[in-house]
Amino acid sequence: MICPYCAKDNDKVVDSRASESGYAIRRRRVCLECNSRFSTIEKIEGFLPTVIKKNGTKEPFVPSKLKTSLEIACSKRPVSNQLLTDIVSCVENDIMQRYRQEITSNEIGEYVMKRLYEADKVAYVRFASVYKDFTDPESFATEVAKFSSMESPEKTDDQWGAAETADDKEGNEQER
Ligand SMILES: [Zn+2]
Repeated sequence: MICPYCAKDNDKVVDSRASESGYAIRRRRVCLECNSRFSTIEKIEGFLPTVIKKNGTKEPFVPSKLKTSLEIACSKRPVSNQLLTDIVSCVENDIMQRYRQEITSNEIGEYVMKRLYEADKVAYVRFASVYKDFTDPESFATEVAKFSSMESPEKTDDQWGAAETADDKEGNEQER
């Protein structure tokens, strides 16, 4: 396997792990030239799941296409390339594990958005805006509001915490 970091072909498998159903095997490799670590997934040849799109058309699931759309959503965001690779691998593994022939674009999107949401909120909204094909500003605003309302409780907690120690009475009044 050619190393993605130094492009030399001298690696060693350090770990092999089969998916639950055994339809895919993930191998952890180490490059003996530059010591970088990377993973490969071995799967059954010819098994290409089909993605059912929202308009009902079908197309083969192409991991590299999903990766590209993730890269666009995450450009200039603090999201590592490794995470994006992992997300794509996880979607692949999920399809493999259930050995499904078909998956809806909706299922893929929901899965990716969940992972992006945990990693980076801006990347999440970007991906969601493309993925959900927002046609009107309201639905986009709803999506933005969803993540800002999820973020604010943390900040509010901090404020309450500070208010309790600094001025307990005022903090209680604000609550009521
Ligand atoms: Zn290398």
